[in-house]
Amino acid sequence: MNTLKKVDPEIYAAIRDEVKRQQTHIELIASENYCSTAVMQAQGSIMTNKYAEGYPDKRWYAGCGTIDIAEKLAVQRAKDIFGAEHVNVQPHSGSSANMAVLFSSLTPGNKILSMDLSHGGHLTHGFKKNFSGQLYEKITYGVSKKTGFIDYDELRKIAKESNPHMIIAGASAYPRELDFAEFKKIADEVGALLLADVAHIAGLIVAGLHQDPVPLADFVTTSTHKTLRGPRGGIILCKSKYASKIDQHIFPGIQGGPLMHVIAAKAVAFKEANTQEFKDAQAQTLKNTNKLCSELQNKDYTIVSGGTDNHLFLIDLSNKNITGTEAQVALEKAGIILNRNMIPFDKRSANDPSGIRMGTPSVTTRGMKEPEMPKIANWIDLALKASNDDNKLKEIKSEVVAFCATYPLYKDITDFED
Ligand SMILES: *Cc1c(COP(=O)(O)O)cnc(C)c1O
Repeated sequence: MNTLKKVDPEIYAAIRDEVKRQQTHIELIASENYCSTAVMQAQGSIMTNKYAEGYPDKRWYAGCGTIDIAEKLAVQRAKDIFGAEHVNVQPHSGSSANMAVLFSSLTPGNKILSMDLSHGGHLTHGFKKNFSGQLYEKITYGVSKKTGFIDYDELRKIAKESNPHMIIAGASAYPRELDFAEFKKIADEVGALLLADVAHIAGLIVAGLHQDPVPLADFVTTSTHKTLRGPRGGIILCKSKYASKIDQHIFPGIQGGPLMHVIAAKAVAFKEANTQEFKDAQAQTLKNTNKLCSELQNKDYTIVSGGTDNHLFLIDLSNKNITGTEAQVALEKAGIILNRNMIPFDKRSANDPSGIRMGTPSVTTRGMKEPEMPKIANWIDLALKASNDDNKLKEIKSEVVAFCATYPLYKDITDFED
């Protein structure tokens, strides 16, 4: 990064310090991961210079030959790993993927039935300050107060009463397996379209470790940077009959030129996802999450829904004399990064909710396995108990930093000079 250092020492320093931060912290944000150096090399490439409005072999600009190779590879590889009939790899994010799907199939005022935000749903599923909530009428389903699992009987009842145009199955903070077959049945019973938003769980689906919505749903959207471990971005998978409608609603519908450097990086990530190594890592993620969750449960933390089936879980701190925000702040001081989160039926606000969310994709990518999880659980417990004691938090942090050093991260990009 010598050129960058000369041209822009401030950004150089910020990147250098961010590398160091990622290397020295325990990363438990469930939506994050560390993509490979190969992915970053593709994303940091000269493909960023090219305008390629349109699709392979149908571009509006000259000079797109090599660009087409990259996009065709990304599409074919995504089709291979997901078994999809059609794939659009151009969405700039998971949110744009959702926007294109909604625009392709709904008219303003139509009804969307989606998961309550505080039960785990996403902003693009009808939140009032999001485009989806401004344009469409949102009706919500949620989890059972008793079990913390989605109540499918209740979902069916709401669907029958409200007759939605689209049902969205998908969440950012739901620790249990989604029953896409049941979603599909309900959607068919009320004549609704089904969108499966698998942003969080795409990696698990590719590895065959979660029920697969691709054969069932009309549309499947995902971010590419969560469990899937690619560059930041999104993709849409759909049945062939929706292909041209989806493509048109990405371009020219809501986007201009595709981010070809990101699409090249998506292609690399999809190639990496088509390996036994990737599948093993997804399986290890499940084991690690389960282990971390049960360790914290043994330390008397209340786990929403009583456990986890996937890569994340939520702790309900309402009996602990600490809020989600206070917990997030104390843990960061101790070198542990996660986020505050609403829990179902939360009595507190989104800004300072009763819960925290955590997941293990990042620590798993880093090479940590079950034996490491009790150590992490222990530091979390100590930090939450010492949330007002900065000296104690500092002490924990020095242990965390030493621990992280034994799981090297991005050794090949650490040639920074100070
Ligand atoms: C992360 C996420 C998205 C998309 O997020 P982006 O940040 O826009 O990529 C969409 N839906 C769900 C359920 C998510 O968790």
